[in-house]
Amino acid sequence: MIASDTRESWTQFLEFVKSRCSATAFNNWFSHIHVIEATAEEIVLEIPNIFVQEYLLTNYKKDLRAFLPVNAYGELAIRFVIAAQTKKGPTHHAPTAQHQTHQNYNHQNPNHQSHGTHPEVKLNPNYRFESFIEGSTNQFVKSAAMSVAQRPGQSFNPLFIHGGVGLGKTHILHSIGHYVREYHKLNVQCITTEAFINDLVDCLRNKSVDKMKKYYRSDIDVFLVDDIQFLQNRLNFEEELAYTFEALKNKGAQIVITSDKPPSLLKLSERTIGKMEGGLVAHMGVPELETRVAILKQKAEQKGLHIPQEVAFFIAEHIYNNVRQLEGAINRLSAHSRLMNHNVTEELVTKTLCEMLQQAPREKITVEQILKSVASVFQVRVSDLRGSNRTKDIALPRQVAMYLAKEMINESLIMLGVSFGKTHSTILHACKCIEKKVATDENLRRQIGMVRRNIQA
Ligand code: ADP
Ligand code: MG
Repeated sequence: MIASDTRESWTQFLEFVKSRCSATAFNNWFSHIHVIEATAEEIVLEIPNIFVQEYLLTNYKKDLRAFLPVNAYGELAIRFVIAAQTKKGPTHHAPTAQHQTHQNYNHQNPNHQSHGTHPEVKLNPNYRFESFIEGSTNQFVKSAAMSVAQRPGQSFNPLFIHGGVGLGKTHILHSIGHYVREYHKLNVQCITTEAFINDLVDCLRNKSVDKMKKYYRSDIDVFLVDDIQFLQNRLNFEEELAYTFEALKNKGAQIVITSDKPPSLLKLSERTIGKMEGGLVAHMGVPELETRVAILKQKAEQKGLHIPQEVAFFIAEHIYNNVRQLEGAINRLSAHSRLMNHNVTEELVTKTLCEMLQQAPREKITVEQILKSVASVFQVRVSDLRGSNRTKDIALPRQVAMYLAKEMINESLIMLGVSFGKTHSTILHACKCIEKKVATDENLRRQIGMVRRNIQA
């Protein structure tokens, strides 16, 4: 969920409440609440007094959970700030245990809280090994991260994790931090590359570079550096960070780095790249369908939202290359289902998520591509699919090919019929048969998902 979505969800929540309580009650309790900050992870609300918080939590907790961010334990990630106190100066937070737990990190906007004089990204409490769902494409990264967390400085050093946006790199990085703090009581420093650069700029200005060097090069046991790609084309900073890595490594400290690309593709000096490749380079891939479904279900559960299996598959098949988008989808759905009082059905999903759902690029796909992909998934020959053998082992995949052609190719049934050497009513019949079958046959649904992904890869 992007930041503005949380604000929008708050507005939707207000609409929801408005339709269910009297105008006076709404005016009394809700009209003086202001959103101070809204990120995908947390919303900060300014309230006139503590009673408003109590009223909200007593009467609308379940609804709030449906609309607003929750943490890994399904608790609401709302921070309340009392208005009068904000105006006086330092922020005071309402003393509710569950909200206190959310005050100490800032992920989307890591406006680093100070650690001594140096910035530090507080570890996101939701990003733990326990809440990270494993699949074949991220298993290796998770094992490597676990191994580093269990024996910091003694296994792979540095551990370099790379992969696309929203695939869980920061999640794994913070998981290492939590683990090391809890089990080894070591000094963990987690920082974004941008923050490191800013810190260095500040220190240069204040002539306190020596202090900074001392801090980074001696006081840290585990150094977690997020998004190293921001170091590209910043020569002086690269040098400083490289020295830091060197010094830390020499004293046995563990270094973990994340990046959107592998070391060899980073525009950094050969020396730095060599150092990064010297440890273990691990790739975080796009999770496969089953893992995406498991992630969806976990996130939905945290929201108190029930999504039927086939709907989870439907969403996971359409949103396939970014886990953060899957979370966004759940958040939207949960808000809509609450608002409209609807169960989560495929129809609601399509309606709510239409702009998020990635349509297959229809023009580009050909019947030939579909046939090839079907043939490889169903282990038959393309020539059999084109032929007229009616044995079940061939007739079913042939129908699947027709079904996918109708879905993925923007052509009339007649034209599709020509491509397959059949009549348009054969295509139509095939589509109806498969539609009926996928409603109950999970295995078939998965096979079709695989064919689709094969084609789009
Ligand atoms: P990146 O740093 O790679 O851009 P993040 O670590 O910020 O991605 O992950 C984006 C969101 O997706 C986070 O909320 C994270 O918890 C979630 N996420 C990603 N992968 C998984 C996973 N395998 N299991 C559970 N949640 C995941
Ligand atoms: Mg990240």
